[in-house]
Amino acid sequence: KAIQTLNHSDASKTMAKLRHQLKQWSNQYYVHDKPSVDDFIYDRAYENLVTLEKKYPDLITPDSPTQRVGGKTLPGFQKVRHQIPLLSLGDVFSKQELSDFVTNLRQEYPDDTEFNCEHKIDGLSISLRYENGRLVQGSTRGNGHVGEDITQNLLTIPSIPRKLTRPINIEARGECYMPKKSFLTLNQYRDQNGESVFANPRNAAAGSLRQLNPAVTARRHLSTFMYNVADYNDLKTNTQSGLLEELRELGFTINPNYEVAHNMDDIDRYVTKCTEQRSKLPYGIDGIVIKTNRLDLQMKIGHTVKDPKWAIAYKFPPEVVQSKVLGIDWTV
Ligand code: NAD
Repeated sequence: KAIQTLNHSDASKTMAKLRHQLKQWSNQYYVHDKPSVDDFIYDRAYENLVTLEKKYPDLITPDSPTQRVGGKTLPGFQKVRHQIPLLSLGDVFSKQELSDFVTNLRQEYPDDTEFNCEHKIDGLSISLRYENGRLVQGSTRGNGHVGEDITQNLLTIPSIPRKLTRPINIEARGECYMPKKSFLTLNQYRDQNGESVFANPRNAAAGSLRQLNPAVTARRHLSTFMYNVADYNDLKTNTQSGLLEELRELGFTINPNYEVAHNMDDIDRYVTKCTEQRSKLPYGIDGIVIKTNRLDLQMKIGHTVKDPKWAIAYKFPPEVVQSKVLGIDWTV
């Protein structure tokens, strides 16, 4: 039965099932770094829950995965409370939805004429806090409000500067990832030693970063791309693209494959280019992200409990599709 046609009572039952299933999958994904289904399946189930929550807002529960950032903190690590939460990203799966996002945003904010297009790095969010230009704390996103203190592990990653080029206080945010080469070597090693292999570089990076022994993290050859700061007041620039360059000047590694787009054609071209580049890149990407380029507009547009409203991720279609999970046909 098409999900949109469910009546209130059936919708309520399906939504409870979806919430339960999504939570189980998330537990495997975020706590054990071992997904039990392909991301595409998770995303489809999530989308169905969103569809039903839009139709029956009275059935939205506070524990719904749509109302909170997904990660969990592991025992064994000190907790870090994020003064400014680390958010997730809304996602779309077709160019039409991407175009609708741009159109709707521009209708509401006619000044919103520039978008910074970036690779969506298949890793996990980290936050790096510097005082007087020195790294004092590094943490995971966790549930967005509370993450894990992984400073010692992050100190083993060569792309993370211990000291910035200026003695400023700043909290930089970005992605920690495992390069494809490191991922293949790690899985080969684990396989030869009878250990379970990681499903993808994202889960391998998450598992490697949340190690109680930093020497293990060091051996996993992780890397980073920073793309945000907690507080824009720390910056000289007033655009997202300028922010990336400022982060670079401060000593961070940023992803150079970003482009400023002025219209949907530019965004389309960027998507096509990235789709072609994808297999040749030394790191994994699972899509692209477009962000309102003006930082003052980003602040004006704001965010939901979970996602910024000024950015969206376009996710690449999956290579292999599983279907018939949960008795529902997930195929498009
Ligand atoms: P997400 O990975 O879909 O997108 C948000 C994240 O993208 C950000 O938090 C950030 O870490 C990252 N990112 C990468 N490049 C970025 C850039 N240039 N700018 C900004 N952010 C960038 O969202 P999520 O909340 O981290 O995870 C949810 C996703 O995880 C789901 O959509 C699903 O695909 C996957 N998941 C899968 C399972 C499973 O069982 N397979 C379970 C839970 C979650």
